[in-house]
Amino acid sequence: MLILICDAFDPGLPEKLARFGEVTNDMNRLGEADVALIRSKTKATAEWQKQAPNLKLIIRGGVGTDNIDKVAAKENGIRVHNTPKASGIAVAELAFAMMIAVPNHIIEAHNTMAAGEWAKKQLKRTELCGKKLGTVGIGNIARELAGRAAAFGMDVHFYDPYVDHCRPYEKCAGLAELFATCDYVSMHLPLTPETEHLIDEEILSGARDGIVVVNTGRGKTVDADAMVRALESGKVACYATDVWPSDPPPDDYPILKAPNVLMAPHIGASTRENLLRIGDEVEQIIDAFVKEA
Ligand code: NAD
Repeated sequence: MLILICDAFDPGLPEKLARFGEVTNDMNRLGEADVALIRSKTKATAEWQKQAPNLKLIIRGGVGTDNIDKVAAKENGIRVHNTPKASGIAVAELAFAMMIAVPNHIIEAHNTMAAGEWAKKQLKRTELCGKKLGTVGIGNIARELAGRAAAFGMDVHFYDPYVDHCRPYEKCAGLAELFATCDYVSMHLPLTPETEHLIDEEILSGARDGIVVVNTGRGKTVDADAMVRALESGKVACYATDVWPSDPPPDDYPILKAPNVLMAPHIGASTRENLLRIGDEVEQIIDAFVKEA
């Protein structure tokens, strides 16, 4: 069996997988590979899959599988797996770090000091304690975030059409209501035809004044033009995002130049600990695959 590591995984992974066969990161061997390990860089399109006639299994190290053409994979008899559990803590910690950074003006405090200014009077902080957080989606990552937010004294609500209960957090009947009633909203849902531009002009214009929106889910779930208008008008006080329409986004992507944004280059899953957990999940998936064959 040939296992092709296409993207960046833990450096110890090849050794861990050697018991299953040959492990390589030589992309010239895509045509021979039985198993391909990808993260977000590789786009496993129908065209890409055509170049891999031997492929039986694609493992996406991470959660979202929107970079894999799953219809083509099914037609080609290729199984698709992700590593759904590994990334919860890493992404939740980044979402929470962004949520803390905004009301504490961490970036402005540092930048003004570095520029030789003493902005003590201008930098008025607010606290997370007592504020209402709404999560869009209440899956693995949102639950990790909710626990951290509750520990900080936040009142956590969620909107998720596919989940009825997630005690002790209260379900909000609709997305518009979540945006209208929360101080902070954090996005934790997959990119699907249904969720693309879910956060649009209508949702944002009805949002609570001065809301903070954190997005560590997928960039395209937010209509960027509508978000820029909401940032310019002050309706949204800050849009903190780790996720983009592509990695990296095009130079003219409007969020890049908008006011009151906090940006990260898609590093939600990129912790050392998470790469190790992803490696463990990959090993378990291949082990089960080999035993089944
Ligand atoms: P999950 O599958 O555990 O949870 C996703 C939740 O979204 C589910 O509960 C689902 O019911 C809900 N959902 C689906 N459609 C919805 C809709 N229209 N409205 C509201 N909720 C909806 O996934 P997870 O592990 O929590 O990850 C969530 C997303 O985070 C992933 O799909 C991925 O896009 C993103 N992610 C980003 C990074 C990063 O590096 N920033 C890393 C991992 C995952």
